[in-house]
Amino acid sequence: MEEKLPDNSDLSGDTCLEPEENRAALFNGIAEGKIDPDLIATIYDRLDTAVWIFDFDRKRFLWANRKALEITEAVSLEELRSRDLATDMSPAVEERLRQYQQDFCRHDVSFSEIWTLYPRGKPKVLQLNMSGIRLIDGRMALLCEARDHHEQQPETLRSAEALMHTTVMISLFSTDGTPLYRNTAARAACQSLGTPFHRHFVESRDALEFLELVERNRTSGRVTRVRTSAGPRWHEVTIRACQDAVSGQPAYLVSEIDVTELHETKERAQYLASHDTLTGLSNRTYLQERLAQVLQTATDRGLTATLYLVDLDDFKMVNDSLGHAAGDSLLQLVAEKLKQLAEPDDIVARLGGDEFLICHLEKPGPRGPDWFGRQLLQAFSKPQLIDGKPRRVGLSIGYTQYPEDGVSIDDLMRHADLALYQAKTDPVDKCVRFHPQMRHLRDEHLAIKKDLERAIQVNEFILEYQPIACTLNDRVISAEALVRWHHPEKGLIYPDDFIKIAEETGLINQIGLWVSRHVAQMQARLAQLNYDIPLSLNVSPKQLSDAHFVAHMQALPRETGCNPEKISLELTESVLLGDIPNASETLSQLKSTGYRIVIDDFGAGYSNLAYLHNYPIDGIKIDRMFMTDIASGGAIVKLILSLANALGAEVIAEGVETVEQRAWLLENGCHRFQGFLYSKPVPEERLLSMLETQMHIASM
Ligand code: C2E
Ligand code: CA
Ligand code: CA
Repeated sequence: MEEKLPDNSDLSGDTCLEPEENRAALFNGIAEGKIDPDLIATIYDRLDTAVWIFDFDRKRFLWANRKALEITEAVSLEELRSRDLATDMSPAVEERLRQYQQDFCRHDVSFSEIWTLYPRGKPKVLQLNMSGIRLIDGRMALLCEARDHHEQQPETLRSAEALMHTTVMISLFSTDGTPLYRNTAARAACQSLGTPFHRHFVESRDALEFLELVERNRTSGRVTRVRTSAGPRWHEVTIRACQDAVSGQPAYLVSEIDVTELHETKERAQYLASHDTLTGLSNRTYLQERLAQVLQTATDRGLTATLYLVDLDDFKMVNDSLGHAAGDSLLQLVAEKLKQLAEPDDIVARLGGDEFLICHLEKPGPRGPDWFGRQLLQAFSKPQLIDGKPRRVGLSIGYTQYPEDGVSIDDLMRHADLALYQAKTDPVDKCVRFHPQMRHLRDEHLAIKKDLERAIQVNEFILEYQPIACTLNDRVISAEALVRWHHPEKGLIYPDDFIKIAEETGLINQIGLWVSRHVAQMQARLAQLNYDIPLSLNVSPKQLSDAHFVAHMQALPRETGCNPEKISLELTESVLLGDIPNASETLSQLKSTGYRIVIDDFGAGYSNLAYLHNYPIDGIKIDRMFMTDIASGGAIVKLILSLANALGAEVIAEGVETVEQRAWLLENGCHRFQGFLYSKPVPEERLLSMLETQMHIASM
């Protein structure tokens, strides 16, 4: 030891007995009168080993034999006992002595250590044998036997010193796990002195893994959780195979450093770096690594892994119109559902924005390959509470399977992305598996998108008008504006080939502004020409959440001289189902400006008439697919007609191609029809000439 250890004290504390009484008291129990205590004292004094008793609590010698007085350079026992060691005892020594005292109280043990004492300031290296001894008053004191240690090599002494003072915990175990030795630091830290090797680890398999490695490599080491007197801690543990110097038997030398703070800081930093703070899901960091692990597990167990990419439909709209807090809570909601569905082996990550990735290990069983995706869609099939209001949350899911659809992570990601692209553009099938043809489709879409951007710049759009006629007299009573793209190379492109892409890319907003301005101008022109028929135009759901749209529509009457009461806005049912935030308010604003609201393609989507009550609706266009229904009695059309009647909405039948259909409509009280039977969509000038002819005939 580096510092002064006990240099003297008082055997029974405060009582401070005379030496004679003192000695008698000490040996009473042993001698019981059979052997003269003086004789025993003499024997002690003759020993070449120094023996003393040290009072832990008062830091004083209680008793010492002659050899001990010699070593401590005391003039008498009284002088030795009068020394107060507390005054210049270092906290480290004090702490160590307290530890010994506790050890002795708990276990009947003894330690052999090398200490350096400094009696009267001179260093003395001693081999100490220490054990506990109960005092008459019940307290635990230290019984020390000391021998000079001159014969030790300085190097050995130094290493023994180092062993004792280091904060590295060093212990020796026999191969069956019994503890053979612990240095001071290890003794202070261990849960109990007798704890065997395998009980030292929080995870019992750690012990086995360590020993397996030591068997193979003679050494092993890593950071792991161990049991200590202060509870579970993270230790960097190194284990070496060695021989016990005393018995010559094979043993394990274990050295440990407490790295708990460092480890926890690192773990926290790694967690923060690898997780998304909003949802608690993994982020992109380490995704590559984790995917590689899951795919490896799939390979090892002969399982299929499905990689899903999930994207929220119109998330930007939620964010823009309801605010970021609502957007955040929507993302959290999705993350929660994903976590609920996922299994422990799966990866659930947020890739950024509103895009999520799931890598799901398919367990053998009756579940289909898209089970997870379908479950997810199911979970969102009902409206969700966002910002206190129930709203429909649309999801698009693309997936690909390992190893069937691809084996590299790159391929799988790319393929899932293509499938997602397909799912986003498909209004019905929202969970789509990758197919090799998708590559081509996407390239085509991207090309169209670029081309569209250019077309908007140079304005390559034109409008055609499809007349809406009356079943009673076959006169044009209205017309619907339909946009066409007049492509410099490809000729006329119809909306089915570009509107969807325009909607996905948001380009529809610009196209829509152009269409509505032209329709407004046309209406004003018709009024001037006295062909005062109303016109209608198609408004995509996307446009309703465009911040500029309402203001633009409000400005049109002033800017073009149109009469908004003679313009119908055709909207699909989805607008009414809560997909579009604030749809109701927007519709009311448009309505109060004077525009008429008409539901397009009615019956094609959700066929739920109940919600119609809640909106300011002026008309319904029956989807053209119901025209085929007419041949077999037209039950559905009859139903729609009577409901519209009850609501006071006018009805237009779309896609009328035969005289039979028109006759049926007339018979059943539907007076407005549109379709190839009457006229295909025609250029503006052709509509004007049709109206002129009509007026001419009327005036005859
Ligand atoms: P829609 O609003 O249902 O328009 C009617 C579509 O049915 C038109 O196709 C029209 O040519 C077609 N059609 C009319 N009569 C018949 C018929 O008797 N039989 C058959 N089979 N089809 C008939 P088009 O012009 O190709 O437009 C397709 C869709 O594109 C429109 O469906 C509408 O949803 C959309 N669209 C057109 N113009 C615009 C626009 O300016 N803005 C927006 N957002 N969408 C538009
Ligand atoms: Ca329409
Ligand atoms: Ca329609």
